[in-house]
Formats: sequence, structure tokens, C-alpha cells
Amino acid sequence: MPVLSDLVAAIASGSVEVIDLTAPLSAQTPILKLPEPLGQTWRFELHEISRFNEAGPAWYWNNIKTGEHTGTHLDAPIHWITGKDGADVSQLPARRLIAPAAVMDFTAEAAANPDFVLEIKHVEAWQKQHGPLPKGGWLLYRTGWAARSHDEDQFLNAGHTPGISVECAKWLAETAPVLGVGVETVGTDAGAAHSFDPAFPCHSFLLGHDKYGLTQLQNLAKLPPLGAVVFVGPLPIVRGSGSPCRALALVERR
Ligand code: MN
Repeated sequence: MPVLSDLVAAIASGSVEVIDLTAPLSAQTPILKLPEPLGQTWRFELHEISRFNEAGPAWYWNNIKTGEHTGTHLDAPIHWITGKDGADVSQLPARRLIAPAAVMDFTAEAAANPDFVLEIKHVEAWQKQHGPLPKGGWLLYRTGWAARSHDEDQFLNAGHTPGISVECAKWLAETAPVLGVGVETVGTDAGAAHSFDPAFPCHSFLLGHDKYGLTQLQNLAKLPPLGAVVFVGPLPIVRGSGSPCRALALVERR
């Protein structure tokens, strides 16, 4: 397989760089908070089993407690009512977990207006400049929000976080050739998306069209607008609606 041996050589030489898009997973990792009486996701927790002590003299290990939607994670179609008969996170075709990415930078817009929403016209303008969206690939939406991820209050910003408009989410789901949308924020939808019609349009349209969401990404600034290949590794939780995941990107350096 010359392609794979070339890839291995390129990674070893650094001509293909591996970028980690994943946020560190700890009890401090910001989580989504929903208003009462809605249920809440859990923070990530480590519970020590043993650490070179009576419970395990030569070994250190932990149990973990986490929500499926805690930290950098993937939303599977079954997560939303529009996709309720769709794939759970264990059923995602492995082939779709390796995909090209289009990376769109709206950091300046989100800094000026935390409620900024991506519109179809923005994606069309990006395509004029860079070329068509890669078929079966991710739209990775840069907003600079990862820079706030060390502080939950800044990250959640009292519900004012950037997202995607209803029209654009519908278009990405029904018309654009994308596999899904990846964001830096706590969820794929805008902080104000509970008040959109329909509410949470990214979740509603994309998951209803067998597409995926990917959240709390970091290091998107290290990716080119086109050309990166993203590997996403959600746990194959049977009947799971999503999973914390590792997301890595391969980037060619010339
Ligand atoms: Mn989610």
C-alpha cells in the first residue's frame, strides 16, 4: 500500500503534521447547562481504584464518570428527535470517521458579536474564495471560542455564544455535501438557539439528515481552509447518543 507507507513516512518526517483538536478532559472541562426542570449532563470525574497501594500495589487506575456530551464530543443522529430512528454512536460507519475538512474563520465576527450566526451567504463567499466544500467532509467553524475554554463562565458567556442560522443549518443538512459541523463552542448550536424556529436548528436539521455534530474543538487556527483530514474517535457506546472523542487532524506542511 504505497499511500499508507508514504503517509507514515510523511508523519515521521513532519511533512504531514498531526494536530490535536481535542480539549483536555477533566472535572474542569466546561459543560452545557440547561434551565430547570431539564436534566443535566454530568461533569467528567475520575474515581481512583488504586495507586500503588493496598488496593493495587503495582498499578494505578481509575473509574470514570462522564456525560456522553461532556468535553470534545460527537453528536450521533439518534441524539435528536428528528434522528431518533437513525444511527447510535456505535453504528457510525468507521469510514465516515476519517474525513476532509473545510475550516471557516469567523473569529473576528464572533469577537465583535458573541451572538454571531453563520449564514448561507458566508459559506458561499468562503466557497468563492477557497473552492467547494469537500464531499462527505466536515465544516469546521472557527470562532475563537476555544480561547475561553479554561473558564466555564467565559466559555458559556451567559448563553451568548456563536452558532449557525436556521436557514444555514437547513441548507447544510439538506443541500451541502458535508458530513457534519464541528465547532469550538459547548454545542453546535448558538447560545440563543433555544429561541430559534425551529429551536436548536443544527441539532434538528443535521442529525435528522444522518449528519453529525462535533463540539469543543481546539487548535482550529492550525488548520488550512482546505486540505486537512480529520480523524474522530467516539467510543462505540451501544445505544449511545454521542461520546467524548479524540479528534485529530492531518495537515500537509510544504
Ligand atoms: Mn452534544
